[in-house]
Amino acid sequence: MKTIVWLREDLRLFDNPALHHAAQKGLILPVYIYPEGLGGASYWWLHHSLEKLAAKFESNKVNLILRTGKPEKVLRELVEQTGADKVVWNRVYSPQGIEQGAKVKDVLTNITTQSFNAQLLIEPTQILNKQGTAFKVFTPFWRHCQSVLNPSPLLAEPEMLGFEQTVKSELLDSWALLPTTPDWAGGLSTRWQAGEDAAQERWLKFLESTISRYKEGRDFPAQHNTSYLSPHLAFGEISPKQIWFDTKQAIANNEIDSDNGEKFLAEIGWREYSRYLLVHFPQVIDKPFNKRFDEFPWQDEPELLEAWQQGKTGYPIVDAGMRELWETGYMHNRVRMVVASFLTKHCLTHWREGADWFWDTLVDADIANNTASWQWASGCGADAAPYFRIFNPILQGEKFDKEGNYIKKWLPELSKLPKKYINKPWEADRITLELSNVTLGHNYPHPIVDHKQARELALNAYQAIKR
Ligand code: FAD
Repeated sequence: MKTIVWLREDLRLFDNPALHHAAQKGLILPVYIYPEGLGGASYWWLHHSLEKLAAKFESNKVNLILRTGKPEKVLRELVEQTGADKVVWNRVYSPQGIEQGAKVKDVLTNITTQSFNAQLLIEPTQILNKQGTAFKVFTPFWRHCQSVLNPSPLLAEPEMLGFEQTVKSELLDSWALLPTTPDWAGGLSTRWQAGEDAAQERWLKFLESTISRYKEGRDFPAQHNTSYLSPHLAFGEISPKQIWFDTKQAIANNEIDSDNGEKFLAEIGWREYSRYLLVHFPQVIDKPFNKRFDEFPWQDEPELLEAWQQGKTGYPIVDAGMRELWETGYMHNRVRMVVASFLTKHCLTHWREGADWFWDTLVDADIANNTASWQWASGCGADAAPYFRIFNPILQGEKFDKEGNYIKKWLPELSKLPKKYINKPWEADRITLELSNVTLGHNYPHPIVDHKQARELALNAYQAIKR
């Protein structure tokens, strides 16, 4: 049997059900089709991930075929050209991913097609509440998932044989996924290694040591207490089922305590839940889950948005986060929450603007996690932080970056400022500022909004839609 394996968000050989199925049945042709609409940082990651994946296939004497075009058209042409018997793929649970899969099925009517789940612990349609409808709150959703979860065993990297005929592939370089003028990806290259092997290495390192500090440590951006698996998960370089099995095993063997292990798995649960929401409520891709927010009086203030994007708001924890993002394509979760709250509540800027910026700049940009998290942070999402709970960026900094180490790392211009003022440089006296080489309005901005006033304005705006 000759099977075409259409790869999308599953750039791995281990525990890849579609690939495994195809390889067991006979000859395979793995195909990756250029994805429209990714952000710049994701394209950077994709380039490296595809390079690594192609090398892995090559070491099995199998060619990874790259093509551009509408998936249904590309796959139909490949079927006609090669005489393939079957096309398989792993499902993508975004509205666009679901639509693509449906179109391919519609077009390839005269050959067998089959799709698999490689992306989630459990199929979203299998999880419903007692009333038979979708869960709208995370905790009961996750509790229910845990009570029914029974993932199938992990699938080994398969033995593979490629199609006998030569099938032409486009060149990865011709896709021009890497930035050139200017090449802004230096910080990304320093921080990240894409690909399945790097994902496995990172995962094992985390499981062997860092996970033991996860529950207490995950909120402190200057420390490295989280897994940094997000880009690997976004591109499917590692399977969430593997993460689940390995963590459960480590708990059972007393290698890690269950508090840390389960807390970590709950974050994998949030990832499940974000996709679950997109499947059950596909409109949330660009509309607020809470319909009241259709009427929210968002403001259009391009200069506030630009200051936020550039890390020039005058609030150090916000600016440090935005600079970390720009430099490395990543931002710590606690800081993501603070910057998102700041943009939507202090600046009253539509959450879509923030989500779009993250989409372009994050290496882990993930349509489900990004959309759900922005809606959560701005108060309009499912199970969201209430709108009236407005993060105070000064207190958040003082609580989670007490020593100012994170701020100083990303804002070197504040590195000499005493701890007392690191989250509120505008309160420092002239001499302190001078001794610290800080000139407000010159090498570090004055706050673009006043926290107290901005809070009042946000609460008033919220009152307007509450009725
Ligand atoms: P860990 O703490 O080690 O968590 C392990 C994994 O769990 C993550 O890799 C991720 O896949 C998942 N996860 C963790 N937190 C969440 C969450 N709140 N929601 C859904 N899944 C989660 N995450 C993305 O992967 N892509 C995004 O585009 C994205 N955008 C975000 C936007 C905002 C405004 C906020 C507040 C959060 C966003 N997140 C996003 C969620 C979270 O910040 C990142 O997943 C996390 O910081 C990645 O670091 P880590 O892998 O070390 O996380």
